[in-house]
Amino acid sequence: MKRIFNKIDEWKIIQDKIEFEENRLAESIMSLGNGYMGMRGNYEEMYSKDSHRGSYIAGVWFPDKTRVGWWKNGYPEYFGKVPNSINYIGIDVLVNGKYLDLGKCEVENFYRELDMKNGILTRTFIANVDGSKIEVKVQRFLSIKRKELAVIKYDVRALNFDGEITFVSYLDGNVTNEDSNYEEKFWINISSGSKEYKGNVISRTKDNEFGTEVFTVCANMINKVSKEAKVSEFMNKELYSANTIVVDINHNDTVSLTKYVAITSTRDHNQDELLSSSENILNEEIVKGYENLLKEHSEEWNKRWETSDVKIEGDIAAQQGIRYNLFQLFSTYYGDDYRLNIGPKGFTGEKYGGATYWDTEAYCLPLYLGVADKHVSRNLLEYRYNQLDAAKENARKLGLEGALYPMVTFNGEECHNEWEITFEEIHRNGSMIYAIYNYTNYTGDYSYIEEKGIDVIVEVARFWASRVHYAKCQGQYMIHGVTGPNEYDNNVNNNWYTNYIAKWCLEYAVENINKLQEQYAKSVERNNVVERNNVKEEELSNWITIAENMYLPYDKDLDIIVQQDNFLDKDLIEVKDLPRENLPLNQNWSWDRILRSCFIKQADVLQGMYYFGDKFSIEEKRRNFDFYEKYTVHESSLSSCIYSIIASEIGNLEKSYELYSRTARLDLDNYNNDTEDGLHITSMSGSWLAIVQGFAGMRTWNETLSFNPKLPEQWNSYSFNINYREHALKVIVEQENIFIENISEGQVELVVYGESYKIEDKLTIKREENLYLNM
Ligand code: BGC
Repeated sequence: MKRIFNKIDEWKIIQDKIEFEENRLAESIMSLGNGYMGMRGNYEEMYSKDSHRGSYIAGVWFPDKTRVGWWKNGYPEYFGKVPNSINYIGIDVLVNGKYLDLGKCEVENFYRELDMKNGILTRTFIANVDGSKIEVKVQRFLSIKRKELAVIKYDVRALNFDGEITFVSYLDGNVTNEDSNYEEKFWINISSGSKEYKGNVISRTKDNEFGTEVFTVCANMINKVSKEAKVSEFMNKELYSANTIVVDINHNDTVSLTKYVAITSTRDHNQDELLSSSENILNEEIVKGYENLLKEHSEEWNKRWETSDVKIEGDIAAQQGIRYNLFQLFSTYYGDDYRLNIGPKGFTGEKYGGATYWDTEAYCLPLYLGVADKHVSRNLLEYRYNQLDAAKENARKLGLEGALYPMVTFNGEECHNEWEITFEEIHRNGSMIYAIYNYTNYTGDYSYIEEKGIDVIVEVARFWASRVHYAKCQGQYMIHGVTGPNEYDNNVNNNWYTNYIAKWCLEYAVENINKLQEQYAKSVERNNVVERNNVKEEELSNWITIAENMYLPYDKDLDIIVQQDNFLDKDLIEVKDLPRENLPLNQNWSWDRILRSCFIKQADVLQGMYYFGDKFSIEEKRRNFDFYEKYTVHESSLSSCIYSIIASEIGNLEKSYELYSRTARLDLDNYNNDTEDGLHITSMSGSWLAIVQGFAGMRTWNETLSFNPKLPEQWNSYSFNINYREHALKVIVEQENIFIENISEGQVELVVYGESYKIEDKLTIKREENLYLNM
């Protein structure tokens, strides 16, 4: 754990000293995004010390050729990347002809804050540039009202001189990815143009041999200065456009440059309209003025907070953590564009980029179900539906039937180049179906399954049926050669979680086919939902046979589920007995040593107990938690939230609080020592889950909403809002009481501590200590 921002505020992330050593970490933490585009917390002006400049546009990606020494059949041919795209925030500043460079000049009173309530990044400092002192204030935001718009206001005050300030405001498309193979450049110049106070750059991703979409992006800027310019020049060259604006400044005066940038791409516009559309955006927006644009933007943020904020009293670090996570997650995705998804690093880094992983279905969907309109979750499901053909092709390439959803993708095609993930981490397929179940069960809306979901359910069932084999000696079905959620072991046989979810997918397919058949048998306009999938009786009975006879590793003596065959034969060393300096293992041990070890990267058996929590008793959960927690290193950001939820459920509040902190402050406190590469966006929902499903014990099994609230001893109270079906509720958990307010029309039926209630407006119940119920 390494906390660099020690001043903790409940709504702000505050940096009160300039960071050289950990600048990349600071840049990740200060990232901004608006679902359409985003960037790391880079400075606008020149900075000569270490920095990772990165700005990214959602859905704009590039297939980087897979290069390996020894090609294996079925390898994905490319590794999908989000290319670092045009740097549009650049404003170099010269004071009396000398560059302002925070890496070189003397800096005082450095202060930067990320205002999460309003979505604004502000930086102030005093710098001494060769004897001339200036006070600077820079503010920027990426509008969530007008997604293609970015605005920066750069104010400079002369503290001890009369002289001149030069702003060089530019757009620079000469950018590369740090993680590209062989320093490759992904962008090709189309045109650049400039006029007084204006400039644009249009570039496209280079052609590729895989036939995936080529994207063209246009960045268009207008620069406004608060004072008449003494000199105003403009220039452009390949992939670059700049305005140089020189203004006189008197001692104590302030001059400001406001830079408005519109970014358009061929995802939304025809190529020949990119420039005109960006011009229209600028013309429509700039007339409103900086303050109004800022106001509109922060009003939108405030609306988001009204329905999603979580308040924690008595623990400011925990409070800041949950808000930070919600802020960064919503900055990445708020369900506005059904073609998009949630990348594990969003717009904040390159590793994992903006590709889609199972993380979305497993960890993010439940949060969006709880706090956003249901169309957001439905969009996420339809994203996968639209990629069903590609998923079938993934299965076919491996010689299998049905559909195999990719581990990593932009367009449905698998685009990750590690075989143990791509070929073997097939459990992800189960999460696609679990998400359909989750959506249907939570919203009560069966129409998705009827219209589209059933096609996915059937093809995934077909995949499992072709991927299992019948082990004659045991008389059971098995799945060999897999990687479970714990990526610290590969090519294992019978990973319990994989076998369990495969079995469940088959059962769920049968259940839904039967339901639809029954429904349509009664209907006059016999929809051909079932027929179009051509599911025959023999196929259904085969699925039932496999599900009934699936092998699930179990140890009778310990009375626990076994993570995979032979797990118990490993050298079982507990994490607490490892020398501290060995952690994180992935940065200190060879891969070979990790694979042989018993250490578990992330929830595996526990992931299954979380997903299928109604199928296991509290005692079973406790036994398995106590066993597996000892060996779990939580080196995936996705791990601690699941452990925290189960720890709450089994009454280990101390552990669940510790794991909550780890999930909520994973990036702010750099727990895994890798936040400089970017934020862990998809695990950010985990802190919300740890509060709502963990501490408050919210469950929706069997279409019944229930709570089993607990309060960590470090907190005085906490509260949150949720949507459930047509209802909106506010839940407040205090020391003495629990209040559940129905803030929607009609009556809500729910269960608290095992008792049923019907709530018109408000329910007050005494808080119970130590009541652990199987909900
Ligand atoms: C985890 C995966 C996850 C990926 C992206 C990996 O470290 O092991 O489960 O999908 O990160 O977040």
